[in-house]
Amino acid sequence: MKTLLPTSTAGSLPKPSWLAEPETLWSPWKLQGEALIDGKQDALRVSLHEQQQAGIDIVSDGEQTRQHFVTTFIEHLDGVDFEKRKTVKIRDRYDASVPTVVGPVSRQKPAFVDDAKFLRQQTKQPIKWALPGPMTMIDTLYDDHYKSREKLAWEFAKILNQEAKELEAAGVDIIQFDEPAFNVFFDEVNAWGIACLERAIEGLKCETVVHICYGYGIKANTDWKKTLGSEWRQYEAVFPKLQQSNIDIISLECHNAHVPIELLELIRGKKVMVGAIDVATDKIETPEEVADTLRKALEFVDADKLYPCTNCGMAPLSRRVASAKLEALRAGTEIIRRELLA
Ligand SMILES: [Zn+2]
Repeated sequence: MKTLLPTSTAGSLPKPSWLAEPETLWSPWKLQGEALIDGKQDALRVSLHEQQQAGIDIVSDGEQTRQHFVTTFIEHLDGVDFEKRKTVKIRDRYDASVPTVVGPVSRQKPAFVDDAKFLRQQTKQPIKWALPGPMTMIDTLYDDHYKSREKLAWEFAKILNQEAKELEAAGVDIIQFDEPAFNVFFDEVNAWGIACLERAIEGLKCETVVHICYGYGIKANTDWKKTLGSEWRQYEAVFPKLQQSNIDIISLECHNAHVPIELLELIRGKKVMVGAIDVATDKIETPEEVADTLRKALEFVDADKLYPCTNCGMAPLSRRVASAKLEALRAGTEIIRRELLA
């Protein structure tokens, strides 16, 4: 990337109301069959257009073709029974009814490759594509076959690598793995979680990102955040090993978070997607607030390695709020660009 401080979003953007219920997470589709296929592509075009209008440098599909950031990928795999559901505690935080692993998991067909090709046709800008990370995948399933979190994670890492290689071939510039589980299971992250992620990116030439956040602004997450005290030091447990890993970019929640910004020192040398937009509130950041977060991050991240971003996805927000936040991200980034060039 030649652009100074290239902007992007962490992931999802709101869906149009004709495609899915607005301001709702994991909302069911309103269309079926051919109409749904067309509807998703049209929504992707709208979402791309909104990012371009806001002046975002690295664009995405806004996750318009996905219902859920983990299970939509898993739906494309063999070995998982979506009828056989069990209630498990996700990320040690909230109960959810999840599908069951009933046999060896495998990928007989691509999940998102056609969608990525479609996005590639729409723009010459750099594009980023998000996949779930192996640890977050196993944490969103009930395993009745491998009976080992680690074993299942390694299987998913191999499958993710197959998908990632095809996304790269389709023209994706940056592949992101969403690993909110890295903020919870520290011992496992260090024992095998980061190693699994490195297996998922093996042989890739495009850039790779791991996104680690405190989640969407849903009640289970905001309640959890209240238990974390005044300083959120979760990143401290996994940063040293991530700094040593082959992952190119680390995507983090920084704005309005109680994360001590000096923790970024632990990953110095890595590129960092700095979350400068809070996705858990409708309040629109001012450009100066965005600039302030970026300025603080610049004490620990070299300017050529800083990528202004959102804390997490914006799917649950209204389209109006999400658009205004994208605009704030660009305007705040411009303030810092001017300061750096002065
Ligand atoms: Zn996130």
